[in-house]
Amino acid sequence: FSKKYKTILQGRRKLPVHDQRENFLSLIQSSQFVVLVGETGSGKTTQIPQYLVYNELSHLKGKQIACTQPRRVAAMSVAQRVADEMDVVLGQEVGYNIRFEDFTSPKTFLKYMTDGMLLREAMSDHTLSRYSAIVLDEAHERTLSTDILMGLLKEICKTRKDLQVIIMSATLDAGKFQKYFNDAPLLNVPGRTFPVEVFYTSEAEKDYVEAAIRTVLQIHSNEPEGDILVFLTGEEEIETACREIKWEGEDLMRQNKCGPLMVVPLYSTLSPVAQQKIFAAAPVGRPGGPPGRKIVVSTNIAETSLTIDGIVYVIDPGLSKQKVYNPRIRIESLLVSPISKASAQQRAGRAGRTRPGKAYRLYTETAFDEELLEQTYPEIMRSNLGNVVLQLKQLGINDLVRFDFMDPPAPETLMRALELLNYLGALEDDTSMTKTGRLMAAFPLDPQLSKMLIESPNHKCSNEILTITALISVPPIFVRPRGAEKPADAAKAKFVHQDGDHLTLLNAFLEYKKNERNPQWCRKNFINERSMKSAVNVRKQLLRVMEKKGLAITSVMGNNRFYSTIIRKAICSGYFMQVAHREPSGHYATLKDNQPVVLHPSSSIKSKPEWILYDEIVLTSRTYIRTCVEVNVDWLFEGTSDYYTDLSSFPNCDGKRALEQ
Ligand code: ADP
Ligand code: MG
Repeated sequence: FSKKYKTILQGRRKLPVHDQRENFLSLIQSSQFVVLVGETGSGKTTQIPQYLVYNELSHLKGKQIACTQPRRVAAMSVAQRVADEMDVVLGQEVGYNIRFEDFTSPKTFLKYMTDGMLLREAMSDHTLSRYSAIVLDEAHERTLSTDILMGLLKEICKTRKDLQVIIMSATLDAGKFQKYFNDAPLLNVPGRTFPVEVFYTSEAEKDYVEAAIRTVLQIHSNEPEGDILVFLTGEEEIETACREIKWEGEDLMRQNKCGPLMVVPLYSTLSPVAQQKIFAAAPVGRPGGPPGRKIVVSTNIAETSLTIDGIVYVIDPGLSKQKVYNPRIRIESLLVSPISKASAQQRAGRAGRTRPGKAYRLYTETAFDEELLEQTYPEIMRSNLGNVVLQLKQLGINDLVRFDFMDPPAPETLMRALELLNYLGALEDDTSMTKTGRLMAAFPLDPQLSKMLIESPNHKCSNEILTITALISVPPIFVRPRGAEKPADAAKAKFVHQDGDHLTLLNAFLEYKKNERNPQWCRKNFINERSMKSAVNVRKQLLRVMEKKGLAITSVMGNNRFYSTIIRKAICSGYFMQVAHREPSGHYATLKDNQPVVLHPSSSIKSKPEWILYDEIVLTSRTYIRTCVEVNVDWLFEGTSDYYTDLSSFPNCDGKRALEQ
């Protein structure tokens, strides 16, 4: 064994779960379901799956152990850690599997994976026969996929008595899980946490990013040794804050007012190498001088999914990006929203891992008491169920109303989902699955996207639609840094296609492919290289599914001068329900609900066409439609269902007349 292995092993023996190992092993002897609750950092995610491995190694018989995570970053990072702990190479005995990235081998017996991926596997293997044990981690987060998996596993375990299921959670709502899993026994891992002093602001903060930066610098200049964890809501915000903290901190250091600092961002789209930086040790200050410090600026990944040792100060603006769904207007969007009291407590707890700490809440105590919910609603209550329904159907569950959900979705939302899938041609009127539906479920995509993709061979432009699908499934490829808006816009102008953003994206991708070998190209053209690379990767994977399903790959660009029309027609085949119409007033309104919307300023469309198809609605200060193309009303009816005949609010225009004739 390597030296690193031995050092790690000593640390592992000090983790609170280590003392519970025998208890755990005896509980799984006596019960098929076990609920395990323990503070963040007590060793649940890294240790419990290993206990299972060593316990079952002799009788795994080629089966695997899976541990699910709601977040990709957690799955990757923990898999790496456990591979180190077991002294094996990541991707061999221990691996991970997240959407579009399978890092496992035939040798793999322990696999960390997103809950979504396990759900996807259950579609082709209804009894999850390749696993001997499944650990559902972070169950308290109540993600959509975890909720469905819980219902599914409850069912599967009725016939597969050899399957062991462990439900792990960081908070103490264990009773609900125990009850749901037929009164499963509970293993409570006693935490070893230190007291955390909580501070509130006396008044509401106007700009929480600015307030967070200010608080970091105050702590850094005045407080004794200890690292800082700041919770912000997204990539852009985090990168901006990191830059400013670094800049101001270095200035303070030059004035000899504080020690060296290391600022590290943490969010889901970071590369694995960049993610690992959060675990690096803080810089050391000069002897007798002010302390050096590590400052981690993170999304709520750091709330319970990843433990960073050495954190003593937590800064919590009380917000996170959350999926919000409004079933009336059928918009699902990520919105910066207030966190729950339970989350605020978790966040504060991160300061007391190694010694007494301090948590600075950037809101008032009254706001905490009166405005924050006790708990966030489970995601299933905030989701567009279209994809879920398709997945459940594919899992062989026909009676959705009787599916044993821990918290069933609102009937209204379920109906909307069935309706959407019916219009897309995925479900028959009696809600049985069509051939199209089965084909759609083969793609890890939203129903509109998968519909557009499987229709594209009929338009002979599947090559282009594949690219477009990949590009809208990854984070934005165009960057527009603060202070460099002009050169960024000028760079983008070279790719702009007047018919709309999907075509502009396509142009940028084709240029990128031509210049792939040129390391300067992305930076010069204000293209996010990581996004482009992941689009290339996603495209490859989707192409593989297309080929497997026998869908023809054909190109229209370079072969047909009407390529733009053809591509936009293909887009309509999936997105015919997401269209806005120009009203006589000159403003746009969505077709389905007559909701006023504004074309996003980033759009390539500079004219004011009568009909605009949009990929998403973004709610910020206004209701924007983003990633748009100009369309012709006739295309909306082509080959689609009776959606428009059912639509009551169709505006008075040529399209309607055409329809009535
Ligand atoms: P839990 O799941 O209960 O929150 P984990 O099993 O994730 O706890 O973490 C247990 C401990 O393992 C952490 O406190 C930390 O010290 C260590 N650890 C986990 N991941 C890493 C990593 N990537 N690098 C270094 N240490 C890690
Ligand atoms: Mg964990």
